Amino acid sequence: MPKKYVLRNKIVKERLKELGGDQVIEVCKIILSKRLKKANEFEIAEKMKLKVNKVRAILYKLHAKKVVTYTRKRDKRKGWYIYIWSLKPRDIVKFAMNETYNEIRAIEREIREYKEGKEFYICEDCGVRVRLIEAMKQMFTCNYCGEPLKKEDTESKIKQAEARIRNLESQLYKLKKLMKEV
Ligand SMILES: [Zn+2]
Repeated sequence: MPKKYVLRNKIVKERLKELGGDQVIEVCKIILSKRLKKANEFEIAEKMKLKVNKVRAILYKLHAKKVVTYTRKRDKRKGWYIYIWSLKPRDIVKFAMNETYNEIRAIEREIREYKEGKEFYICEDCGVRVRLIEAMKQMFTCNYCGEPLKKEDTESKIKQAEARIRNLESQLYKLKKLMKEV
């Protein structure tokens, strides 16, 4: 399987999108299309018809997640540095796995809180969600629209959270399989 096909994987694409939309996928695609899987930010910007600053912002986001690495080279004529970004398909899959792990952990924490009896209050109109102590301070009305806050249905929240975890675990399984192919 050609390695750039990593970007065809739905789970991988979703995780990249979360970082900053389709442009993030596009940047990865451009780097992976190069024989050495390296591209400088000017050529990426040109291909995407975007300002270099915008491309750089995307690359920094990817770098913070350890998806891309860079080397810099001094342009002898102009005297400034050119950044050359490289990307390994494996690192994209690793990133998607990490994000999935982190989400699972966050949901598990949430479930623990529910099971410890923590109560949350919500405004169905605004989607606002606060802890009991906050709800009391606000006299059980929403700070934004003034509607009464409702106690969240813990049972159904736990069920939803557990279903989401099962879904994420199956994503993780698929990513592990993909990892063997790249
Ligand atoms: Zn409200």
